[in-house]
Amino acid sequence: MSSLSEERSDPFVDRNRPELPLEPVRAFAASTYGLSGEFLQLPSERDQNYRITGESGACHVLKISAADELNETIARQIAFLEHLRLSDPEVSVPRVVETTGGAPMSSIAAPTGEHHVAHCLTYLPGRQIEQLPLSRALLNSIGTSLAHMNRAARGFHPGGIVADLPWHIHSLPRLAPCLGHVRGKELHTKLTDIVTHFETSVQPVLRHMRSQTIHQDVNAPNILLDPENPDTVSGIIDFGDMVHTTVICDIAVSGADLCAGADMVPQVCEIASAFDVVLPLEAEEVDLLYDLMCARVAATLLIIAVRNDGPSPDGYMADQRGSYEDRLEVLLTLGREQTCRALRRACGFPVRVPGRAPDAISDMIERRHKSLGSALSLSYGDNPVHVEAGEGIWLLEADGTRLLDCYNNVPHVGHAHPHVARAVARQTSALNTNTRYLFGAVLDYAERLAALAPAPLDTCTFVNSGSEANDIAYRMARYATGNSGVIVTDYAWHGITAATAPFAPHGRIQGIDASHIATIVAPDPYRGPYKAGDGDLAALYAADAERAVAELEASGHGVAAFMIDSAFTSDGVPDVPEGYLKRVVDTVRAAGGVIIADEVQCGLGRIGTHFWGFDAHGIAPDMITLGKPVGNGYPLGVVISVGSLRDAFGNATDYFSTFGGNPVACAAGAAVLDVIEREDLQENARLTGEYKRHRLADLAQRHALIGDVRGTGLLTMVELVRDRATREPAARETSEILKHVRGEHVLVGSEGPHSNVLKIRPPMVFSRDNADQLVDVLDRVLRDLPQ
Ligand code: PMP
Repeated sequence: MSSLSEERSDPFVDRNRPELPLEPVRAFAASTYGLSGEFLQLPSERDQNYRITGESGACHVLKISAADELNETIARQIAFLEHLRLSDPEVSVPRVVETTGGAPMSSIAAPTGEHHVAHCLTYLPGRQIEQLPLSRALLNSIGTSLAHMNRAARGFHPGGIVADLPWHIHSLPRLAPCLGHVRGKELHTKLTDIVTHFETSVQPVLRHMRSQTIHQDVNAPNILLDPENPDTVSGIIDFGDMVHTTVICDIAVSGADLCAGADMVPQVCEIASAFDVVLPLEAEEVDLLYDLMCARVAATLLIIAVRNDGPSPDGYMADQRGSYEDRLEVLLTLGREQTCRALRRACGFPVRVPGRAPDAISDMIERRHKSLGSALSLSYGDNPVHVEAGEGIWLLEADGTRLLDCYNNVPHVGHAHPHVARAVARQTSALNTNTRYLFGAVLDYAERLAALAPAPLDTCTFVNSGSEANDIAYRMARYATGNSGVIVTDYAWHGITAATAPFAPHGRIQGIDASHIATIVAPDPYRGPYKAGDGDLAALYAADAERAVAELEASGHGVAAFMIDSAFTSDGVPDVPEGYLKRVVDTVRAAGGVIIADEVQCGLGRIGTHFWGFDAHGIAPDMITLGKPVGNGYPLGVVISVGSLRDAFGNATDYFSTFGGNPVACAAGAAVLDVIEREDLQENARLTGEYKRHRLADLAQRHALIGDVRGTGLLTMVELVRDRATREPAARETSEILKHVRGEHVLVGSEGPHSNVLKIRPPMVFSRDNADQLVDVLDRVLRDLPQ
């Protein structure tokens, strides 16, 4: 070290690290910070740092800066840390420790007589990175931590414009002493409430909002209009109030000062929506506008009060007191919820309707019947779910109630996942067109998906739903085989198109020719014809496929395809006997049919142990079909097949789907894959799924109604029976349980031929805490269920 400093000649790069002897440092730490104990020097480029471990075990870091370090530099670092602490206490950074005299910094004299700035921080325990390359999980975690810190830091301004004016919206609480000058008890109460609310609920939010320097006083005296065209602003003057804050404060000031009367809020909406067109606002900003306008009006009234009270009132804005009192009245009468709704609507954000007023719900149901038809089923008829927003595992009811979503698999990576939402928004702002042109998004996505499929499946056909994917897959199978017959399970569900709807035997419309469809019994050792102890269950159940093949051959249809959801979701997710599907696949292939794996429900990591459902059975399909979760809610369906199947079909039919494979859909699909990988959701499904099953199995010990718990990963079924010996399906009880569980803010579904199976199929971000909440609610509901 010393040789390096001897060689150096340029003070710009000089480390100039202090080298104070330990004893004076010890004495300094004790007298200035009250710290003593074990001193360990820590490595540093330019500082002399010690870890001090006190008798209690508490650790601190004493940092002594180079003699030429500026006070301001350290002060700025301290301010930044303090800002982060206030903005987001979850962000893990050291905390500033003050001197015993309450100062953030101190100074220590070296034996040479030079003075060094010193400061003290809490010590964050932890290991250091020892080896490269870093693991994926660590890189992910570093990225997440950085993002959190940067989010917390957004509102930090390193200095410069720090004018201290009563007009700064941020400073409203500092006007509290002016409340004593407000005449009129009612007005005093209103203003007090605004100041209090601002301090407790608005200021903490302002700290982490995106900020910049703003004018903060764009009102009548400061706006210049074009003399030729008085509806046009030609200039804005007087930047004396400018400040570093959220841009929404500018709209709040203009709204509060320039809008008035009964239509005050619609006027503000005009300003906000015009602003939003040029500089898009964030929902959080829009939602804060009401409070900021109240703050501006309150600040104005308080300043007027204090300047016009006492022996020598200065008359400042006295003539405007009435108009600001009127504005306050308009705002308070309309209220935060209604104002926020109007503003959200104006700026194109989803609108949340406050409360679940019964008449609001019945009004929506009536509109729904009229506009969507009365046959469209509505879940939880007498207590319907009205949601306008979702977030991760949660669906947010209109009144703000959070529903734990244990049912919906479409938001595979979580409701409103920001990465998917952004990908869709960015692509739609750039281009949306069809696959008759060249563009990268579809190629990137197709290559990525195909790489996830087993060889030789390498070609993607894009459509808009699971039904369409199955429809096309079936048509491809017909072209490839020259046969028309299809084999599906007894309670299969593969779609709603003219071709696929009849594949759902239980939902088949009367009068439709279904002679080309042969159904096979699902291999369900709990409820099916063969149960544990009956022999080789795989062989016994697979024999039904031989019967189905014979049936299709006898009717002249032959076998084009076996379409299979390998989790047998609509059949109730039975515990499939090992080797069963392999036998069926062999039988179908021997008859010339192809295998279509409908992975709409069980693909993309849901079952935890494998990425694809069919992988768990050791079979390799000829085609994979995808829908629902693949776009996290964006309409997207895919058939992944071998190229020859796709080409034969395409050449014969000139197949083309207008929306299929559009760039926005592909952006959504790619973003879903990103999140599955980055958040390791398949592994989460495996681990959380195991935990959930374990807790459900435990529940079954306590509730005789639970006959069976099945499934892997985040696809779990709980079969309810009235009698464990007879296995009589408890359908009525199942529907009661669903209702009560919904009443406890948890959504689950029902499934199976007898509608007596609870279907638990949450978004893949389901956590152990979520599993605990679900099982605890089920426990309570089962306990209290009327017999
Ligand atoms: N296949 C399976 C296994 C399904 O569960 C569904 C939908 N429930 C479909 C296909 C049809 O998908 P979509 O509703 O997107 O048409």
